[in-house]
Amino acid sequence: MSAPSRILHYIGGELVEPISGRYLDNIEPATGAVYSQVPDGDAQDVERAVDAAREAFPAWSRTPADKRSQALLRLADRVEANLEALARAESVDTGKPIRLARSLDIPRAISNLRFFATAVLHFRSESHATDHLAINYTLRRPRGVAGLISPWNLPLYLLTWKVAPALATGNTVVAKPSELTPMTAYLLSELCREAGMPPGVLNIVHGRGVAAGAPIVRHPAIGTLSFTGGTSTGAEIARGAAPLFKKVALELGGKNPNILFADADMDEAVRTALRAAFTNQGQLCLSGSRIFVEEKASAAFVERFVTETRRLKVGDPLEEQTDQGALVSRAHYDKVMGYIDLAREEGGRILCGGGPPQAPVSARCRGGSYIEPTVITGLPAESRVNREEIFGPVVTIVPFKDEDQVVAWANGTEYGLSASLWTRNLPRAHRLAERLAAGTVWINCWLVRDLRVPFGGMKNSGVGREGGEEALRFFTEPKNVCIRVPLDPSES
Ligand code: NDP
Repeated sequence: MSAPSRILHYIGGELVEPISGRYLDNIEPATGAVYSQVPDGDAQDVERAVDAAREAFPAWSRTPADKRSQALLRLADRVEANLEALARAESVDTGKPIRLARSLDIPRAISNLRFFATAVLHFRSESHATDHLAINYTLRRPRGVAGLISPWNLPLYLLTWKVAPALATGNTVVAKPSELTPMTAYLLSELCREAGMPPGVLNIVHGRGVAAGAPIVRHPAIGTLSFTGGTSTGAEIARGAAPLFKKVALELGGKNPNILFADADMDEAVRTALRAAFTNQGQLCLSGSRIFVEEKASAAFVERFVTETRRLKVGDPLEEQTDQGALVSRAHYDKVMGYIDLAREEGGRILCGGGPPQAPVSARCRGGSYIEPTVITGLPAESRVNREEIFGPVVTIVPFKDEDQVVAWANGTEYGLSASLWTRNLPRAHRLAERLAAGTVWINCWLVRDLRVPFGGMKNSGVGREGGEEALRFFTEPKNVCIRVPLDPSES
């Protein structure tokens, strides 16, 4: 399997050209060079995909769960058999180190498919005996055509996170990956064909958010929308979906606190804080981008953290030793650099990084968008840099006095996706877990994921939860059936 120079839509089981005939350049972030073409999809292509999904829905929704499960398991096997090719494609398309794509993105895509393929076999609904009068039971049925819109930072990982539960529960899908990173979604469509996925069950339309994403949001035949992306796009999607009364799940941005108390295991805390700040060049919704350290441990922590940060190798994403690859696009590079400039204006001290590497990371990568991992201190917790999502290799460190202060600062943003907490004091860990406004609180760890747990954000980090039963419930419509069953023989 190899990346083609021209990507196609996947509609009704076929790989098809955009109706308009228009394509966009797909750029390799590591080099800044165009390396393929992606359809500039629009409402006509979405219409065609919705027609295919509607046509496939009756048969797919009636297919027994174990047959749907087997189809997804076959797809997972095909993804696994092509792990190396997919990892390479993901690295080229996003600029992430190939090591990360190989160890995280593609294995997780496989787990997503296998997890939901088997979870659906154990999915159950409730029944309620109503005194001596009746029995109520809940039927859970697929909702129809689901629209799934996913971002560029974890392309195949987040696409399969949505596709797997939607298909497992019997829905059909129209998906739109980010136009910046369409390649592994395209390769997935080739694998669907190999795996014998019935035509029209999964349809993938490529293109820009405004041209191909918005028609999915507005389409009256798509009753379910699952979106992962930025908070402002989420607001736009909510506005489009609300008058049509769609069921919507929004997984949005984060500005996640990483809180270290002086009694923590500092070796482990430093190692993990480094990963939390810089994995995927800091382009993770779950990045620990604000580090709060208890005052008495702060100086020692800063010294160790900066030393470790300087050791990270910025390089060609395709080289095995690279720790930090390229940012996804020049526009995103400019946004992140804008925040580094803002940090300087707000009075921050840049302890390391702060811009592109002095020399190009390699001759091949001259035109790529690289920023050295950047550590900033001296900014108040209320500064814009400490409140707004940067989504790049930039982390701030702020010393704190006590629990009340750090909880107020940690909760002092519009976001509430995740938080990490490092302490050996168990009562304190539970106390803070309760007080932190975040959908996930990690204690003495970060990014430990179990696909069964509810995943999502509070406040402007999102609406609804994905993961495990939450996802299976989201993609199904509950219907209560009430049967009068008089248990008292005198009433019969
Ligand atoms: P965007 O919000 O820019 O885009 C996400 C997706 O929405 C893309 O496919 C995009 O298409 C599409 N889109 C854009 N505008 C519209 C529109 N008007 N209608 C329909 N679709 C649209 O996010 P990014 O791709 O920049 O991803 C980064 C963001 O995602 C960060 O804020 C990050 O925190 C968040 N995120 C959240 C996660 C979570 O689980 N909470 C996980 C990962 C990321 P296109 O790009 O082609 O224009």
